Amino acid sequence: MEKKIFIKTFGCQMNEYDSNRIYDSVKKIGYKKTNDQENADCFILNTCHIRDKAKEKVYHEIGRVKKIYRKKSKPIMVIAGCVAQAENNEMLKREPYIDVVIGPQSYHKINDVLENLVPKNKKEETEFNTISKFEYFDRIENKNNKVSAFLTIQEGCDKFCHFCVVPFTRGPEYSRPYDKILSEAENLIKNGAKEITLLGQNVNAYLHVENNKKYRISNLINKLEKFSELKRIRYTTSHPKDMTDDLIDCYRNNKKLMPFIHLPIQSGSNKILKSMNRKHSVEEYINIYEKIKKINPKIEFSSDFIISYPGETEDDFNDTLKLVKQIKFINSYSYIFSPRPGTKAASLQLIDKEISKQRLLIIQKNLFDHQIKMNKSFEKKIVEVLVENKLKDQSKLFGRNKYFNSVIFDGNTNNIGKLLKVKIDSSNQNNLFGKIQENKGMRAA
Ligand code: SF4
Repeated sequence: MEKKIFIKTFGCQMNEYDSNRIYDSVKKIGYKKTNDQENADCFILNTCHIRDKAKEKVYHEIGRVKKIYRKKSKPIMVIAGCVAQAENNEMLKREPYIDVVIGPQSYHKINDVLENLVPKNKKEETEFNTISKFEYFDRIENKNNKVSAFLTIQEGCDKFCHFCVVPFTRGPEYSRPYDKILSEAENLIKNGAKEITLLGQNVNAYLHVENNKKYRISNLINKLEKFSELKRIRYTTSHPKDMTDDLIDCYRNNKKLMPFIHLPIQSGSNKILKSMNRKHSVEEYINIYEKIKKINPKIEFSSDFIISYPGETEDDFNDTLKLVKQIKFINSYSYIFSPRPGTKAASLQLIDKEISKQRLLIIQKNLFDHQIKMNKSFEKKIVEVLVENKLKDQSKLFGRNKYFNSVIFDGNTNNIGKLLKVKIDSSNQNNLFGKIQENKGMRAA
């Protein structure tokens, strides 16, 4: 009999990609994806460790699942993702409702684990076996048929920023073979992808060597451009240290690479960057920004900021504020530092909560003001939108412009997958609203 599987995904696009690959895998052992979380035979929480209190949120979620299934038979409860990797066996000891704990580098074992699971014999799989994982998934077709598809090209991190758990939960940097990535891309395009976002924790550190030839992310971007059905290319998340000239040159030569770069800096103070172990300076970051702006002044940036990192003085904070005013980021993440167990920064002295809140308010006001201003600048203009889907329970369509802004407008579902010109009537901090433009002669922003 067919069994149903539901995966609740938290965190970044890499987790979303992983969840879809798990669906592709378990299909082989008779599981069918369901969106009905109240009637699943297997319930997976694909967790994220980036945000604060990640572990507690997982236990809270398990409590919710327990309530749903109080009066029916319990699903196989699987905890996957970075919290599973970080907590491993401890989770099985603390919460008997959990049947399986599986880390992100062990997903190739999911079918075996589910097929051979016997009650009272819980399973923990948290080894780092990235190569075997990708070798396994290379043999299974990526069934994703979204207009905008994700493609993981690289995993892990060797940089060890002192605040970050990624090197511990995803392991060392690993780059997938170039030809395997291209055949997965071809498959995604065949299934209808018009946009591909290349993913990696350090996506621009991508380096695959074969027959003495080095393949970098720039080679992938330039090769992808040649697929005529593919209209847009993006990549995330990058590190300033790996923003090499060959990648920067893609902005000069590649017509499908979108003019929007998410490039985290975390702080505008060199002292704080050093104590975070970021391995780049503010000047190096600005140098990258200027090189890219010189190629095309319409390319825009977004970033991540950690406010009140231990040791951040008023002067350090003002340096971050100065940077935010100088580089007018169009969209960014900012949050107050919170320690992650096991990282070097976890033992450092925290900055007063009230001071931290004030600093966050100031930074966010500057970031949001510019974001709103940027969005307003699209009003009365025509933008090119890739239509991704119909909004749930609404007649509206959803798509994105080149700068990754979400655009909402009336239209027929026949338009999904098309690049349309949309005239923007209004905007808020997060969305642009408009109407499909019939006049094909007008230029899009
Ligand atoms: S480079 Fe990114 S993923 Fe790696 S340790 Fe630093 S913040 Fe974490």
